[in-house]
Amino acid sequence: MAQLQFDNSAVLAEKIAADAGVTLSDCYQCGKCSAGCPMSASMDIQPRQAVRLLQLGMADELIRSRMIWLCASCHMCVDRCPNDVDLPALIENARYQAQRIKLCAVPEVGKFNDIFMENVKNFGKSQEVILEGAYNLLSGNLLQDMGSVPHMLRHGIIGPEIRAVREREHVRRMLTEAEREDEGC
Ligand code: SF4
Ligand code: SF4
Repeated sequence: MAQLQFDNSAVLAEKIAADAGVTLSDCYQCGKCSAGCPMSASMDIQPRQAVRLLQLGMADELIRSRMIWLCASCHMCVDRCPNDVDLPALIENARYQAQRIKLCAVPEVGKFNDIFMENVKNFGKSQEVILEGAYNLLSGNLLQDMGSVPHMLRHGIIGPEIRAVREREHVRRMLTEAEREDEGC
């Protein structure tokens, strides 16, 4: 099991909240976020419970959960929240902390994220064909989503041409610099 970067789970909870700009005591556990979350049926921890874990200083439980990788960042929860608790930002920061210690409870999502970022680094934007192909190859699900290929071809979402953005070197430098800053934290 990877080691937590912070010895104290409560300190990590405070950092996640501070980095997200959230005051944890703003959440009074009404549950409106969980009720509106389109991913809640697949989550091991509900959105409301995610905030509760942080309030209790149990960040280690949150960063080991599947929920932080299954959140679709749709912002439905924060739209419904009577106190504007920015749950997606909390989840994003929890995911970031998990990533820093190479912890990913849903490895497929981590793999997809790595391929996506590599894609953006190389071409300045995501190339759907490469993204899809590389993910299927590396995950071993060679035929995953193949049924949607004709639709994507018809609508020009994918095509035979690989087009990089003009400023791709700029994008690459920006991402490399961000990675370097991360390592220095
Ligand atoms: S909707 Fe807001 S106040 Fe209610 S439980 Fe969720 S985060 Fe807390
Ligand atoms: S942002 Fe994440 S937690 Fe919030 S409603 Fe969407 S999927 Fe659920």
